[in-house]
Amino acid sequence: MSLLNKIKVLPLWVKIFIGMGLGILFGLIAVWTSLEQLTVDWIKPWGNIFLKLLKLIAVPLIFVSLVKGISSLSNISKLSRIGLKTIIIYLITTLIATTVGLGLVNLIKPGNVFPEERQEEYRERFLDDISDKQFFADEMQEQSPLHFFEEMIPENIVFAAGDNSKMLQIIFFAILFSIAMVLVPENSVRVVKNFFDGLNDIILKIIDLIMRFAPVGVFALMAGLVVDFSGDSELFSALGMYMLTAVLGLLLLITIFYPTLIRLFTGIRWRDFYKGILPAQLVAFSTSSSAATLPVTLKQVINEFKVPKTIANFVLPVGVTINMDGTSCYQAVAAVFIAQVFGMDLTVSQQLSIVLLATVASIGSPGVPGGSIVMLIIVLTSVGIPVEGLALILGVDRPIDMLRTVVNITGDATVASIVAKSEGDLGYEA
Ligand code: ASP
Repeated sequence: MSLLNKIKVLPLWVKIFIGMGLGILFGLIAVWTSLEQLTVDWIKPWGNIFLKLLKLIAVPLIFVSLVKGISSLSNISKLSRIGLKTIIIYLITTLIATTVGLGLVNLIKPGNVFPEERQEEYRERFLDDISDKQFFADEMQEQSPLHFFEEMIPENIVFAAGDNSKMLQIIFFAILFSIAMVLVPENSVRVVKNFFDGLNDIILKIIDLIMRFAPVGVFALMAGLVVDFSGDSELFSALGMYMLTAVLGLLLLITIFYPTLIRLFTGIRWRDFYKGILPAQLVAFSTSSSAATLPVTLKQVINEFKVPKTIANFVLPVGVTINMDGTSCYQAVAAVFIAQVFGMDLTVSQQLSIVLLATVASIGSPGVPGGSIVMLIIVLTSVGIPVEGLALILGVDRPIDMLRTVVNITGDATVASIVAKSEGDLGYEA
């Protein structure tokens, strides 16, 4: 077999892994040989094309998979049971993740070793970035506490579908649509059901086609990122302890928390769990977007863990928007880090508020790169931590974003498997 053929038959995750490794290597070589511009002009766009293809399919996928998932649960009491279970498990895992972040940042105290002379420098450098985001955060805070629910209802479904950060509105409409579909007599909706079945197959095929391009896309995304970050090594070393704390928290969740939940509640073996979820984790890592990763997460959970389509199609799209354990863990670390740098001693009640606020903030964050930054401003202001502190961490946010997105989608996949098992519907066999 020629080398090309050997590569062709490799499993997708191996190809993505190779693409990622080669992308990092290419980026480093480009920096050493001053080929940054060439990389930005000729390599990076391929990464953006891959990302746009994934985003392109996100809205139709969420809508169709939810309609298919919910409308096939033809009995409303099963539907509400699964819905309630999903939300409760999502909340519990998010609360635990936030607590892990809070515990670590209090233990390691990364803020105490931050060089004081850097504070002013970073503040000047990231001032513009912050004032943009502050504007959105202020707007959000001026609204009523019920604004979140108000925002969930789209005024116009076409507008909602035109904005990837309005996924919650699409979910709302999809749920309403499918509940109505269950309530209407079978005869009159048969055609619609068949239509959605066909549409779902078409969308899955499109995802299949896009994923063939994934190794190249991931290669280009990683090469572009390495080049973008090459000038920032000094920033990384000053913030080393902060990054270490956040990364440690996120790794704990990925390597211990979820595999333990999976083993205890579903019986899926650690090895099978990792092998199954890895392709989705690699895509999450290189795209920093759980919404863009959704097609891969769905495919892996259905094919590898044998979660029935009806459950995966419901639990995962909802999780992409409301279940972000990595995000909430990082928000706790970031908030307390900034407080430490400014020499603030947080009281127990302030720390507890951080746990609750970070949990709620993660629910409200969209699954897009840097989606949680605006929400972090709200956490900071609510606890009375200076928002300018954001300047300290913005420069190194992307690598942490990549890892927290991995945690976010791993959490969704874990909960989907647990819900399926609890319904006696998990097809996995060791
Ligand atoms: N990038 C994250 C995601 O898509 C959201 C965030 O934490 O900024 O899951």
